[in-house]
Amino acid sequence: MTTATATQQLTHWIGGGPDDGTAERFGDVTESATGRLVARVPFATSSDVDRAVQAAIEAQKAWGAASLTKRTQVLFAFREKLNAAKDELAEIVTREHGKVLSDAMGEITRGQEVVEFACGLAHLLKGENTPSVSTGVDSHSMRMPVGVVAGITPFNFPMMVPLWMIPIALACGNAFILKPSEQDPSAALVLARLLKESGLPDGVFSVIHGDKEAVDAILTHPGIGAVSFVGSTPVAKYIYETGTAHGKRVQALGGAKNHAVVLPDADLDMTADGLVSAAYGSAGQRCMAVSVAVTVGDVAEPLLQKIEERIANLKIGPGTDPSSEMGPLVSKAHLAKVSGYVDAGVEEGATLRVDGRELEVEGDGYFIGPSVFDNVKPGMRIYDEEIFGPVLVVVRADSYPEAVELVNANPYGNGAAIFTCDGGAARQFEQEVTAGMVGVNVPIPVPMAYHSFGGWKASLFGDLHMHGPDGVKFYTRGKVVTTRWPDPATHTGVNLGFPTQT
Ligand code: NAD
Repeated sequence: MTTATATQQLTHWIGGGPDDGTAERFGDVTESATGRLVARVPFATSSDVDRAVQAAIEAQKAWGAASLTKRTQVLFAFREKLNAAKDELAEIVTREHGKVLSDAMGEITRGQEVVEFACGLAHLLKGENTPSVSTGVDSHSMRMPVGVVAGITPFNFPMMVPLWMIPIALACGNAFILKPSEQDPSAALVLARLLKESGLPDGVFSVIHGDKEAVDAILTHPGIGAVSFVGSTPVAKYIYETGTAHGKRVQALGGAKNHAVVLPDADLDMTADGLVSAAYGSAGQRCMAVSVAVTVGDVAEPLLQKIEERIANLKIGPGTDPSSEMGPLVSKAHLAKVSGYVDAGVEEGATLRVDGRELEVEGDGYFIGPSVFDNVKPGMRIYDEEIFGPVLVVVRADSYPEAVELVNANPYGNGAAIFTCDGGAARQFEQEVTAGMVGVNVPIPVPMAYHSFGGWKASLFGDLHMHGPDGVKFYTRGKVVTTRWPDPATHTGVNLGFPTQT
């Protein structure tokens, strides 16, 4: 049961501690299950951002020069602190985001896996060495930190997405400035405290709260060398274009409309379990949520019946109730948006098989139940646009080629899955589908920390994906050193010719 507590006034985190900043604008942070105001978050001005950047520039000098062992020792300690703080963090995530506690724990675990990956980063920071590239001349390559880097993150994973970035950026020797979502900003401050307690020097990690004003100050600040972004596609495109126009390296991950193709030979119980979990987990507010099922042949009707049976048994309620499987949406505005999409689907002629608007939950929480539409077609808003809520749409295709063509014609390309018992068809799908992450009988194919996470097409602007080997490349710059040591016997004298191997 929720008890009324005083509204918390959040601060930024600059130079190793809380910082009130100079905000004149503030945002409300609410508890999604009740609608209660729990915190006010300051919206940073450009001078707040500048203070964080100046502190980061100063602190990064020593941090970037510290041994790799010292840097990774901080991350080993951070891993333990994170473990110990999991309950506290999950509670904050559930309160502000709405997802059920087990889901909040899950996202912390996935973030922690990136910390563990970064603890062993030495393997990926090893350079290459070529002796005797010329007579008496050797060459070696190394990867150097970028300097000060920033991360701008979405509301739907307030722990996991920042942790896709922070551990690798820090292990590579950068200072990091995080601008978390203003909708659920509190977890970021716990991360800052835990990093400090783990021995991270002051100034190496900062948290700046805010909205577009703070983001623009980050994108245009000459002291920041790289920006990682995760959020919706229009903002991702803006971040990429503005950041790169200001000379920064940018990776900007955008929205999604993830399709799952279901072939007639699929194990339908396994498929229905997978689709219901992937469509309604976190109330559909996952960038890898399955939002479209493309059924091939006559598999739609038996599959829909199994999906409906499972939806009928779902327990929807506050995330803090251990029996809840699906919590509320993040905000009142988002609830109105998702509910509006269900209205639009009906108006556009799709068949509404399960109507989430009928769910009744007491109080002012942002609840909506799971919805399923059948007979959906491209051109309908519920197919063309990212809903980011618990709405699964079913598109019927006559054949596998028609299904793949549909998936590949979609402007997004984050995840895609196929459900089948035919290995040959699955292999063909793996090869030809235009998405960055592909599942075979796996509805949410999120790569582990040691692989990289990222989509194609309108789901990613930039060249490198997040975490894994791409993360290391993104947060480092290559350098090649050519050396010659004096050897009195081989002095060759002045040579104005262009250097070539001899
Ligand atoms: P959002 O784009 O509204 O916000 C993301 C971040 O950008 C926030 O920190 C926000 O403060 C900032 N922002 C918002 N509008 C801005 C603007 N006009 N100018 C500058 N900055 C701005 O996204 P959201 O609603 O927080 O998150 C949900 C979206 O994120 C969905 O589209 C989802 O698919 C996507 N997402 C993608 C991935 C992925 O890996 N591709 C992962 C998680 C979420």
